[in-house]
Amino acid sequence: MKMDDHIQYIKGVGPKRAALFAKLGVHSIEDACWLLPRRYEDRSHIKPISQLEPGSIATVVGKIKQAQVLTTRRRRRIFELTVGDDSGAMTAKWFKFNTRYMTSLFKKGELIILSGTVEVDPYGFFGGLQMLHPNYEVIDRDDDELVHSGRIVPVYPTTEGFHQKALRSIMKRIILEYGPKVADIVPLDIKQRYKFPAVAQALQQVHFPDNSADLELLEQGISPAHRRLVFEEFFLLELGLANRRRQLTQDRVGIAFKSTGELAHRLTKLLPFSLTAAQKRVLNQIKQDMARPQPMNRLLQGDVGSGKTVVALFSLLSAVEAGYQAAIMAPTEILAEQHYLNLRPLLDELGVNTLLLKGDIKNKEKQDAYERIASGEVQLVIGTHAIIQQKVNFLRLGLVVIDEQHRFGVMQRANLIRKGASPDVLVMTATPIPRTLALTVYGDLALSVIDELPPGRQPVETRLHYDRERSKVYGFINKQIQAGGQVYIVYPLVEESEKLNLKAATDMAAHLQRDIFPHLKIGLIHGRLSGQEKEQIMRDFKAQKLHILVATTVIEVGIDVPSASVMVIEHAERFGLAQLHQLRGRVGRGTEKSYCILLAHFPITEDAKLRLKAILNTQDGFMIAEEDLKIRGPGEFLGTRQSGLPDLRVANIIRDASLLEAARTEAFALTQKDPALSLPNHQPLKEALLRKWKHKLELVQIG
Ligand code: ADP
Ligand code: MG
Repeated sequence: MKMDDHIQYIKGVGPKRAALFAKLGVHSIEDACWLLPRRYEDRSHIKPISQLEPGSIATVVGKIKQAQVLTTRRRRRIFELTVGDDSGAMTAKWFKFNTRYMTSLFKKGELIILSGTVEVDPYGFFGGLQMLHPNYEVIDRDDDELVHSGRIVPVYPTTEGFHQKALRSIMKRIILEYGPKVADIVPLDIKQRYKFPAVAQALQQVHFPDNSADLELLEQGISPAHRRLVFEEFFLLELGLANRRRQLTQDRVGIAFKSTGELAHRLTKLLPFSLTAAQKRVLNQIKQDMARPQPMNRLLQGDVGSGKTVVALFSLLSAVEAGYQAAIMAPTEILAEQHYLNLRPLLDELGVNTLLLKGDIKNKEKQDAYERIASGEVQLVIGTHAIIQQKVNFLRLGLVVIDEQHRFGVMQRANLIRKGASPDVLVMTATPIPRTLALTVYGDLALSVIDELPPGRQPVETRLHYDRERSKVYGFINKQIQAGGQVYIVYPLVEESEKLNLKAATDMAAHLQRDIFPHLKIGLIHGRLSGQEKEQIMRDFKAQKLHILVATTVIEVGIDVPSASVMVIEHAERFGLAQLHQLRGRVGRGTEKSYCILLAHFPITEDAKLRLKAILNTQDGFMIAEEDLKIRGPGEFLGTRQSGLPDLRVANIIRDASLLEAARTEAFALTQKDPALSLPNHQPLKEALLRKWKHKLELVQIG
């Protein structure tokens, strides 16, 4: 049989158990090899019966002296074994058993191994000991290896109806027979550099470790054997990404933008500030990419408020100046409108023909917009995903900036590439993503990081208040507004119902206006408003015509009103960390001291406590992201839908971060040396890579 044969044909499996295996994600023999134990039990220390102590967990080996079914005075049936070794004897008892099975299994004189908790036998002779429902294994003389006892025993993740012992026996058979046949695909020099064991040995040690193995390392999944397997998984992933990067860049013909820098020069003069060193560095990386004849695929990371937009603007201008059209896509209409509002004056001044493309414009207007884009008259389009989803045809699309995206999937990128003759793409993330995640999800993109905030920013003072302290919070809001500040009050999305959420925000706005702050101007913004209404409200807030803006989470991302200095987050316990960080990032953008007030309502879950603690502790988005990743795990962090997260069977990007870095370095170096994996010693690797990626990526073609 071959490694990719179906598990069903393994002895002892069959269709029924194959269905159970399928629930565990195991279909082929190879899959089974990668089904790693969840934990281990050390049943390797065999003790003489005379040395057993009640209360301890122990393993003994002895001969069966007697096997019988007893009935107690209360008519309870017990299956009892008496087992003896050179030092003494003890009993093992079962209250639940199948008589026929047990009597045929346990024959007088057989050698048996038992593991369990030692207790005083209430029915035994003085001092007699027993184990109740112990783990057991009849030692088969033909089979010299123990499976369930007398060793470090693997405990597998299992599913209802699949007994641990049955699963373990099958795994033993598979690892024994097929483990040695698993191809070792990691190149020799890498294996030597990291002192990795051979894959066959690693599989053996992970599943059925030697008794001398370090139990602690095994349990944590960081034994040498584990690390070898984890590396392989990361290595294949990063090789795939390195290959895709090659496909998206080197192998494609893109645009080598030639810009004079004149627009950039004029923009620099128009801006009221100069770029930070980090912005300049990142902009240089982008410009170098753009000047190359291969398409750019770059991820720009930067904390909230680090000034990504202006970097995007410079990039867009280079494309326009070189005679191409450019587009910037925002995740929400509000944000698209804000970009338009903020950038329009500058773009007008620079003479760039700009269009805002929205979802809610009338047909006639839409047609008109499409025509102006298709004719090339419009040089810069600002919009939402509508830009790529609708029938928008550009004449000469050169650069697309995707703003504030966390979850920009592979498919969307592919869509985009079809739009133009391989436009350059710059993806900007809404909040920082931990490096390890960026390397897996966005691993095919080049990475730029703005790791510096513009000068003069003061840290936002963050406070936690409970609902009962509400009047204190209102007093504070009042004081801040008297001093010239502006305030956001944000309501969370109520999961069950958007309606409820809207009602909460609407009621609150009315209540605040009527009962609490009758002397102030209060605005309300939410997702149900039309684009125009939203635009008007944001404009009023920006022009300081409103003191307080009550909002649903529509303002979460990107909104930039530097005069706002207080952010109140209602039901802060319900928000995710990234959201809290984003929301807090709406203030502290000007020179005024700013505040973020977390209003928490009971009950507060344990995870929520961790989140609130993290947000109170630091304002560094990268640290918050790491914390968030730890609390939620990668799948949730990215949002399970369209996360683009590869399914990792054995690796854990938090635990194994250093191995990920190593695998990435090696994979990209290898791709540089042997891009098509055509060297003879890379053949097993190439096959494994094709197997792993064939369903996942249309873009990857190797060799
Ligand atoms: P984000 O990275 O969160 O998208 P923005 O691009 O919205 O941040 O920038 C936040 C604020 O900082 C804006 O008001 C912007 O004008 C301002 N800004 C950007 N770069 C600088 C800089 N170098 N010096 C001062 N202010 C800056
Ligand atoms: Mg932004």
